[in-house]
Amino acid sequence: MTVGGWREGRVVETVAATPSARVLRVQVPGWPGSAAGQHVDIRLTAEDGYQAVRSYSLGSYGEADTIELAVDEVPDGEVSPYLVRDVRPGDELEVKGPLGGYFVWRPGGVAPVQLIAGGSGVVPLVAIARAATDAGAGASMRLLYSVRTAEDAIYRDAIERAGQDGGVEVSWRYTRAAPDGWQGPVGRLDDDALREATWPPQREPVVYVCGPTGFVEHVADALVRLGHAPSRIRTERFGGA
Ligand SMILES: Cc1cc2nc3c(=O)[nH]c(=O)nc-3n(C[C@H](O)[C@H](O)[C@H](O)COP(=O)(O)OP(=O)(O)OC[C@H]3O[C@@H](n4cnc5c(N)ncnc54)[C@H](O)[C@@H]3O)c2cc1C
Repeated sequence: MTVGGWREGRVVETVAATPSARVLRVQVPGWPGSAAGQHVDIRLTAEDGYQAVRSYSLGSYGEADTIELAVDEVPDGEVSPYLVRDVRPGDELEVKGPLGGYFVWRPGGVAPVQLIAGGSGVVPLVAIARAATDAGAGASMRLLYSVRTAEDAIYRDAIERAGQDGGVEVSWRYTRAAPDGWQGPVGRLDDDALREATWPPQREPVVYVCGPTGFVEHVADALVRLGHAPSRIRTERFGGA
């Protein structure tokens, strides 16, 4: 039943994704389906009636009524520690959505697509890479994922599958420590790294950038400096510094 756009969802599975993140599969009866890149609002209600609402991107897309979220714990946060540590299969969460019509990818475009993620910002970009793989459009897509260390990478398996089976060109950037045998530099994404790992501006890609607010602003500014048209850069800010 829908009340004010809210549906009752039931958690059906939780899977550890990294030491601080979990993938939650939530069945939502009546779910209308979603496009790749959309998000939902999740509402929690405490016994005393206090409510908290936060947005979470969908790592899934399409018609199925079981949706997938991936939540990274923000230390001392109000909602994310509960979703990462305490939620169990069978628990109920209220879900509103799908939401967002701008940070969305649909098959059929002609321009190449560049995905750039920082941390948990990879979630909607995984949905987009999955949709492109299923549509046979992976070869026009590149994904650059900036993450602290290899073990902090959410959806590593899905990303590697999109690279191997889907033809998406995947590049990694480690900001704290690289895995053994890593040849490339370690550190924050800079202009050189973006130039090397992304479609050049001359190819006029549509660029999707997602992650913590500071990451998104840093990358979007660099892309404009490198010659990308601001109108072709789509951003989704997850909050924080
Ligand atoms: C459209 C959208 C999609 C999102 N998708 C996801 C997703 O797929 N996975 C995911 O894990 N999160 C996602 N977020 C972030 C999420 O909505 C929450 O902000 C996050 O889980 C923190 O909530 P909290 O209640 O635990 O922290 P709060 O109690 O709200 O905040 C605690 C402190 O942490 C800071 N903070 C808030 N958000 C962040 C952040 N993202 N990074 C660092 N510091 C932060 C706050 O400024 C505050 O100081 C998304 C946000 C938006 C707007």
